[in-house]
Amino acid sequence: MSDILEIARGQVLGDGIALTEQQALEALALRDERVDDLLDLAHEVRAKWCGDDVEVEGIVSLKTGGCPEGCHFCSQSGVFDSPVRSAWLDIPSLVRAARETAATGASEFCIVAAVRGPDERLMRQVRDGVAAIRAEVEINVACSLGMLTQAQVDELAAIGVHRYNHNLETARSYFDRVVTTHTYEERWDTCEMVRHAGMELCCGGILGLGETLEQRAEFAAQLAELDPDEVPLNFLNPRPGTPFETREPMSAIDALRAVAAFRLAMPRTILRFAGGREITLGDLASRGVRGGVNALIVGNYLTTLGRPAVEDLAMLAELKMPIKELGRTL
Ligand code: SF4
Repeated sequence: MSDILEIARGQVLGDGIALTEQQALEALALRDERVDDLLDLAHEVRAKWCGDDVEVEGIVSLKTGGCPEGCHFCSQSGVFDSPVRSAWLDIPSLVRAARETAATGASEFCIVAAVRGPDERLMRQVRDGVAAIRAEVEINVACSLGMLTQAQVDELAAIGVHRYNHNLETARSYFDRVVTTHTYEERWDTCEMVRHAGMELCCGGILGLGETLEQRAEFAAQLAELDPDEVPLNFLNPRPGTPFETREPMSAIDALRAVAAFRLAMPRTILRFAGGREITLGDLASRGVRGGVNALIVGNYLTTLGRPAVEDLAMLAELKMPIKELGRTL
């Protein structure tokens, strides 16, 4: 039987055909000594099929904490005894955050709310916030507001939301061990509606939730089937008060293996490092950026501190990776 790296070199790098679920599993199970080769191949794939640019994004929390849902990893759930308190951001603060994000060179600014889905109060804030940002700041606006109705999808598309984030979080077969207050299918349906409305779809999840390697490969295949424009990869950062607070963070080498395998399963997507990379990868983050990743969130995450934006921008300069410029028609 041929080696998975040889197969991937021809199939993915050469022909742009993604790894299957079974092949992704073989990549995820590669021995530690082969991980450098796997990352190098993933980097070649990303350069050939996506180009050299790295997309830089900022993220802000419009409504923090107090979410009625019970995702076991999430410190913003109001169901658990987490120290994160509920809070709203006002429109001037939202515009200031967008301006600061644009000043880093970022092309995307994502407004996030910890909710099951938007109510009328949140939709009004988003409407006003998106209009104020578009009037004053040169940046694409994205939103992450939970599950949507068709009317809400249509409205967000109409007010110029460029991309919508809604994560599947984990493999279908593992989802009910992580989330019990809504279903995988509900999440999938929102993703489908977003795509059909013409917004870019951002959909990923969290690795290291306790899923098996088989389920990690399954998750990569399910994301590939959904075919999002962007896939944010988070790594579990166990938060106090959540049901997953005592889980061990993933090892750096497993995280790097996963980054490369997900790249080979989705050769053309924007693959983004999202939350948890500091605790999982530390200074090895740059290895991930040379192993398939082509997007970063700069600055703070929603409930945990990321790294200062300057450090990430310096890392990209050192790696000689250009920041993707804003190419949009607002
Ligand atoms: S729906 Fe989102 S904000 Fe709410 S608990 Fe789940 S992950 Fe957290």
